[in-house]
Amino acid sequence: MDEPQADGVGREKAEVRISHWFVEGTHLGQSPRTVRFVHANLQWPDGLLFYCPNCGEAWARIAVEGSKTYAYAQPCRKCPGHYGAIPGSVWIDWDADYRAAMPPRVLARELRLHLEAWDKGEL
Ligand SMILES: [Zn+2]
Repeated sequence: MDEPQADGVGREKAEVRISHWFVEGTHLGQSPRTVRFVHANLQWPDGLLFYCPNCGEAWARIAVEGSKTYAYAQPCRKCPGHYGAIPGSVWIDWDADYRAAMPPRVLARELRLHLEAWDKGEL
């Protein structure tokens, strides 16, 4: 079993897993990830495969070394958004740990996408 071991304060001391951020076919950087509590369970972060629920394209992958990858529905930049989602964005409102791990190039891309959506009145 590959369960993380707590150090008494909820995190492993020295172990990290590297996440790789691929968006629209480009590697935009990498960052270290650590274990975290999810619903009172200490877990490694999962990798995410962003696919578009409209056209079916898998357009981004946030791979975490040693972790499984799960599908995440989010519209691609070519398709309309839904429920307030910005097409092509890999931003996840409810996951602060994930957002804190975003490499600078991913953050810059998100800022541009959010400003464009703001200018179009979509936010
Ligand atoms: Zn699409």
